[in-house]
Amino acid sequence: MKPVLIKNFSPPELEAWVQTLGERPFRARQLYRHLYVRNISSWDECTDLSRSFRNQLEYGTVLNALSINKIDEAGDGTRKYLFRLHDGNFIESVLIPDESRCTLCVSSQVGCALGCRFCMTGALGFKRNLDTAEIVDQICQVQKEAGQRYRITSLVLMGMGEPLANYDQVIRALGIMMDQNGLAFSHRRVTLSTVGMVPGLYRLGQDSPVNLAISLHATDDALRNKLMPVNRTYPLTELMRACREYPLAPRKRITFEYILLDGVNDSPKQARELVRLLNGVRAKINLLPFNPHPGSDFRTPSEEKVLAFQEVLQKAQLTAIIRKSRGNEIGAACGQLAARAAAVDPPPDSLDTDAQED
Ligand code: SF4
Repeated sequence: MKPVLIKNFSPPELEAWVQTLGERPFRARQLYRHLYVRNISSWDECTDLSRSFRNQLEYGTVLNALSINKIDEAGDGTRKYLFRLHDGNFIESVLIPDESRCTLCVSSQVGCALGCRFCMTGALGFKRNLDTAEIVDQICQVQKEAGQRYRITSLVLMGMGEPLANYDQVIRALGIMMDQNGLAFSHRRVTLSTVGMVPGLYRLGQDSPVNLAISLHATDDALRNKLMPVNRTYPLTELMRACREYPLAPRKRITFEYILLDGVNDSPKQARELVRLLNGVRAKINLLPFNPHPGSDFRTPSEEKVLAFQEVLQKAQLTAIIRKSRGNEIGAACGQLAARAAAVDPPPDSLDTDAQED
């Protein structure tokens, strides 16, 4: 029999599965605790389980859905983990330590089909969706490796892939991340970033309390169609309607990410368009001056242009924060990833004032 990826199971599924092995249902709670609270490396560590059950687990399950192949660390402490999957594919996660928090940026697909023009992952094309186990195991493995120095405080689904294009597995993984008997992250500390696949947005609002970030990057359809082909399927009017109708918890806001590309989307007129677009949405904006990477034609705008863009937003009473890039020299995924990942998540001491909480 083919071994099962045990971290694919939700708690009820785990309970049903242990019973097929002749074990009592409460064993599932023990296993769940070993997997996510104790973050075990081997079934031998589970001395509260009988030797015969441990043998069944040893031969009948895959405990680690991926393995660390390489770690690069940048001067600013950002760490990029390259993971090898069981089929030989590779994905990345990026750990971004800060003074007050430590954010892990998690991948949801191998490659990506959506082809955003400013993104290195998009240029790789799409290979496959990740399983639930492969998503949550990025967290388990990084926490284990970095555990001496860092404790992960926040998660962002912003690595390789579009999370809403792998909806079912991502929702299951979010369940494990936010389950108090699982990885036990507060919903205030978990963010899903999407380019705006509108049907998925409507489902997500019903299915998960996760924080929402939208990759916007343009204020009109003509430009957004060029930068982000997904806009041809879900144009701005539909996307913004979904944002307005998104069932935000009280005091939460949607984060809008806007990569500033010199001479493309960074004019004061486009800033005013952005103000108009966000009318009626509880929003905050992260402005990300483009971080050049090999093969990209875009340039970084001057500081004056970035500040002028921000000023228009602030004058309209919008929260707009300029985010510096992180981990440049280790090529943190699409080059913007670490900045975006660090930006969507407020430090813990800002929770009382920042509307990322409910
Ligand atoms: S930005 Fe996100 S959705 Fe767009 S190509 Fe890159 S990984 Fe895919």
